[in-house]
Amino acid sequence: MISSRVVTTPLLQQSTSAAIRRAFISNSPSSSFSSPLVRFGPFHFPTRAAPSLLRHCSSDSHSSSSSNLPKANPSSDKTTWRDMPEKDISRYLCETHARVFEHNRTWAAEKKRVDPEFFTKLSAGQNPEYLWIGCSDSRIPAEQITGLEPGHAFVHRNIANLVCNTDLNVMAVINYAVRHLKVKHIVVCGHYGCGGVKAAMTAKDLGILNPWLRNIRDVYRLHEKELDAIPDEEARYNRLVELNVIEQCKNVVKTAGVQQSYAANSYPIVHGWVFGFNDGLLRDLKIDFEGMLKDIQKIYNLVD
Ligand SMILES: [Zn+2]
Repeated sequence: MISSRVVTTPLLQQSTSAAIRRAFISNSPSSSFSSPLVRFGPFHFPTRAAPSLLRHCSSDSHSSSSSNLPKANPSSDKTTWRDMPEKDISRYLCETHARVFEHNRTWAAEKKRVDPEFFTKLSAGQNPEYLWIGCSDSRIPAEQITGLEPGHAFVHRNIANLVCNTDLNVMAVINYAVRHLKVKHIVVCGHYGCGGVKAAMTAKDLGILNPWLRNIRDVYRLHEKELDAIPDEEARYNRLVELNVIEQCKNVVKTAGVQQSYAANSYPIVHGWVFGFNDGLLRDLKIDFEGMLKDIQKIYNLVD
């Protein structure tokens, strides 16, 4: 659970209100939020067994189907591989490694069965309609929740689906997707219950995550009045998730590639969506792309 030392950073002292502290820095056991980011913390490889763990693993030497090991589910608070005897951990890691290849072989065979030319066509190149910018959260696989097939979406994911102009990764992805792949839609997809957004609003030093998550604190600061006026804690948090998506859409619109492509081709269109774990549905925030572009270009116009 998140530690809730109350407001120790100058940033919070200066730019957040008591309402934020009540909402996001609550130590109450009744708080409805939990942060996977903080709760699970950094990944600790089991050093006691590390030298031999994967020595005998290969992609086809184990069959997961015959496993009688406990199923270690990282999203469960029950049995995990950390509770297993050393010999079982070793086997477990081999099997989870091999399982991916087993599923891959099944997937490839099925694709070929349905369409014998599937991989020939896939090899010919990509022509995706969509650029998807989503959260790294493992529960939101872009293609699976949208029914998109290989070749349909160029995908970029990071913690809390941020678009920062100093992040060469996302800037290169947007530039390539727009100028070379000529995507027609750019989707920024956040999700309710985002651990990154929650962690950003926690009064805690999170090390290297601090500068990354600071972008979300900035979103709160920009919309402090609206957010502070929402009395319900969960509703306020959900609104911050939505506002973060909208602000990241604006950051996409600020890029030269998007502005210039839209001026020349009338695409891409930028969309802001939010995914809900409770029903598995995507919600379109219906941002006014043309209005947003017009507003942005008052200051950030990069079209010659
Ligand atoms: Zn997230």
